[in-house]
Amino acid sequence: MKQDPSTKLIHTPEAKKRRTVNPAVERASTVLFDTADDLYGPLPTYGRRGLDVHRELENALCGLEQAHSAYLTPSGLTACAAAIASVTEAGGRLLYCDTIYGPTRRFCEHRLPKMGVDTQHFAPTIGAEIETLLTPETQAIMLETPGSLTFEIPDLPAISKIARERGITVVVDNTWSAGLFHKPLEYGADISVQALTKYVVGHADAFGGAIMCASKPVAAQVNRCLGDWGLGLSPDDAYTALRGLRTLPNRLKQHESSALALAKWLEEQPWVSSVLHPALPSDRFHEIWRRDFTGSSGLFGVILKDLDQTSVDKAISRLTLFRLGFSWGGFESLLIPCDQQLRRPDGDWTKDKNGPLIRIHVGLEAVEDLIADLDQAFGA
Ligand SMILES: *Cc1c(COP(=O)(O)O)cnc(C)c1O
Repeated sequence: MKQDPSTKLIHTPEAKKRRTVNPAVERASTVLFDTADDLYGPLPTYGRRGLDVHRELENALCGLEQAHSAYLTPSGLTACAAAIASVTEAGGRLLYCDTIYGPTRRFCEHRLPKMGVDTQHFAPTIGAEIETLLTPETQAIMLETPGSLTFEIPDLPAISKIARERGITVVVDNTWSAGLFHKPLEYGADISVQALTKYVVGHADAFGGAIMCASKPVAAQVNRCLGDWGLGLSPDDAYTALRGLRTLPNRLKQHESSALALAKWLEEQPWVSSVLHPALPSDRFHEIWRRDFTGSSGLFGVILKDLDQTSVDKAISRLTLFRLGFSWGGFESLLIPCDQQLRRPDGDWTKDKNGPLIRIHVGLEAVEDLIADLDQAFGA
């Protein structure tokens, strides 16, 4: 029977087998056995790669993203870095989209060359033109969809079709959709990565990362890399992420509808130049979003009109509900000015950017209250 994700994330196969609603958290490094044979048997023999809570979380994430297998890491950044490191090696080359998460980009620019991997970035609008950048050394392509500062959606089917023909692995950072509104593995990606820290945990109180693999060979590469580096997720954080998954679809629906209402209101304000939200019909990536996504989350960008940074900073300091902070995906609304983070030589959006950029995460507060807060701070 085909079930909605909200049902499947609550009624996991593991949950049916136990007496309590939630799994026990095994805080364990050492696992004990009765016989010498068992020590070298097929059961988990050590806590580093996790026990029951981890398996339930991995299985739920596999179901969510239609993956062959899922692996957990201590954070979203380690998930991105380990996914890339799993599918590249010395002498090879990685292409990465100009709009990927800043610290992942730093990993590509600084760490990969030290590991003997050559890197080059490309514009998010590249599409099938990616072919012109491919060399015999190219091993992998890293994307984020949409870019989480400027919200470009790369044409994943076009890119992955060409990559597949050449045996190149495609990795997608899918944190924005939380795996619910976009399924990169169904659009040709080999690996989908999420910072569980954002929507899955959903309460800004834990870190976690996940690497979802489309096939057994890719899973074997990721498994090996995580094993070599000793990366895993703590049982408490795995529990917190699993708990977050139970309410993810419901929370995300609310983030989606509030963010859309706020984005539409913002489009009408005289102090706004444009709103970067792919679910708005006016957005330059709306068509791709409609084709590849089934919904939108609470994070989007706003380009302000004719304001110098001092006036922006002043307006921001008048906000009372929107708090200033990096990260997103929690129940609380957040806002940041972004211009200091923009270093996107290829991002073609820069040519029509005529004012400062802010990024908004719409939390679970009532949207009328959030609108009133922005109105008093920026309208003034
Ligand atoms: C936050 C974030 C990450 C990193 O996650 P952490 O858990 O903070 O390391 C990776 N990708 C995207 C898109 C993010 O927003």
